[in-house]
This record gives sequence, structure tokens and C-alpha cells, in this order.
Amino acid sequence: MSTIAFIGLGNMGGPMAANLVKAGHTVRGADLSAAAREAAAAQGVEVSGNAADIVPGADVVITMLPNGRLVLAVWGETLPLAKKGALFIDSSTIDVDSARKAHEMAAAAGMISLDAPVSGGVGGAAAGTLTFMVGGAQEAFEAGRPLLEAMGKKIVRCGDAGAGQAAKICNNMILGISMIGVCEAFAMGEKLGLSHQALFDVASTSSGQCWSITSYCPVPGPVPTSPANNGYRPGFAVELMLKDLKLAQEAAASAGATTPLGAAAAAIYERFAAAGFGGTDFSGIINYLREGRS
Ligand code: NAD
Repeated sequence: MSTIAFIGLGNMGGPMAANLVKAGHTVRGADLSAAAREAAAAQGVEVSGNAADIVPGADVVITMLPNGRLVLAVWGETLPLAKKGALFIDSSTIDVDSARKAHEMAAAAGMISLDAPVSGGVGGAAAGTLTFMVGGAQEAFEAGRPLLEAMGKKIVRCGDAGAGQAAKICNNMILGISMIGVCEAFAMGEKLGLSHQALFDVASTSSGQCWSITSYCPVPGPVPTSPANNGYRPGFAVELMLKDLKLAQEAAASAGATTPLGAAAAAIYERFAAAGFGGTDFSGIINYLREGRS
């Protein structure tokens, strides 16, 4: 069993740290928020307000933070304090360039490291069913795999440094684009007199088939678990989709990739969020399109 320093005990990090405690590890946690610390302490995490307090002597350091700037700041602060050879894992969703920089900082400090962003949301974090997309050396992957398995059910090594973040934003760019496409089709179908169920029955088994139809249909009825049946409460909030689409655009610019639909999806979600829908589910973009906005 390992001693783990877990930094960032928010909506995702809190339940992930709790699952590491349940798996029998000693988990020390840090967060700036007293409420997050209290919730984690109730799950058996030894908490502190300061990351620097919990890193010395830990075998593994995990960060679950809002953005790349914070990840680099926290790694920069804690790498010099860690035991030589410790494993640093960042599970936040951040830009690929910052993820690669974090790996370089870890190697320079004599540590091994992984970028290991997740999908599965808060429900998956609580249930221990997250998917981890992992970048880093094979040795680091083998060292980290048992811990990731305590927090997730599917662990995929995508390649070397930054490959986990690259896979995450490529996947979520597909999702943002496909959801808008599915919403356009359902809203157009309404105007053409087509029932939601008829379009679902055809498109869910035809060449238009995709996750945005089969698992997350943006109209009430065909998929009872989708947020459309629940007033478009998230689910996956517009602001999180927008964050990932912006990261995808940064990556495209940095890598010289041509992503016109990714750019359009980011712009549409940006306007939807600015119209006051940032906290609602991203499939609610269908209502925006129905109003003739885009
Ligand atoms: P959150 O805002 O709930 O949690 C982040 C936590 O980090 C907060 O509790 C904050 O106080 C803490 N924090 C910030 N700076 C800190 C510092 N310097 N030291 C210690 N603690 C600090 O966010 P979340 O929803 O848990 O998301 C975390 C990451 O996971 C993000 O990168 C997000 O994009 C990604 N993610 C979220 C979801 C989701 O559904 N919420 C799904 C997949 C990925």
C-alpha cells in the first residue's frame, strides 16, 4: 500500500481520494477550500490547507486542479520536496503544452510522471468507474496503474508525455461537434414534422449513429437517462465543454492542425455560455438552435 498526497479535493478529486482510502492506501489531501477539506476528512483523508505539508515522504503525488497554470505552480512548489523517484500524476484536464512541461519538470527533479486526465464526470469519480487516458513512460504507467484502477474501470495508455491530454481533447472535440450536429438534426426534424422517436430509431441504428444520440439524446424520451429528461441539468455543464473546446483550439494552433468545426463548436458554446447557460447541460444547445440562435 502507498502513501499518496492528493492535491485538489474538489468535485472530482474528493471522491477520487476517497476511493484510494477505500482501497487501503494512506491518503493525505490538500485543498485551499475548507469545505473540500472537511468533506475529504469525513472520508478518511488526512487533510491540510497546504500542498507543501503533505508531499514530503509520499510515494505518489496526484493533482486534480482547474487548469494548467495551477498544475505547473503546484508541481513547481512540491517537486523539490518529494522523495526521489516519487510518481507524480496529474489528472486535471489541461493544455497539452503544460502537460509536457510538467513531465519535463518532474524528470529534471528525479521523479517519474504521468498525465492521466479522466472522463466519466462526478458520478464516475464517486463510483470509481472513471476512464483514464494516460501519457508517460511505460515504467511510470506500470507504477501508476494499480492506483488508477482503484479510481477507474478503464485505463488506456495513449503514448508518451502529453498523450493522455491529447486523447482527452480530441475525444471531447468530437463530442462538442457531434452534439451540435445531432441537435441541428433534431431541431430540423421538428420543423419537417418528424417525431423525435422516429428520428432516434433511424439515426441510432444508421450512419448518423453516435454517442450524442444513443447515450445522451438531446430531446426527452428516447434515452430516459439523458439530461433532456431532467430539464437539462448537468450532466456535463456547458462551461466544462467550453473549457475542453478551447483547449482543443489551443492544441490545434500549437500543432498546426486544421479544425474548422472544432473552432465553430467552441464559438457556438462560447455564445451559449455568455447567454447565461454556462451551468446547464451542454445538450441544451438544442434549445438555443430552436430559437434561431447559434
Ligand atoms: P473543482 O473546482 O471542483 O475542484 C478543484 C479544486 O482544486 C478546488 O477544490 C480548489 O479549491 C482546489 N485548488 C485550486 N488551487 C489549489 C491549490 N493551489 N492547492 C490546493 N488546492 C487547490 O473542479 P473539478 O470539477 O473537481 O475538476 C477538476 C479537474 O477535473 C478540472 O481540470 C476539470 O476540467 C477536470 N474534469 C472535471 C469533470 C467534471 O465533471 N467535474 C470531468 C472530467 C474532468
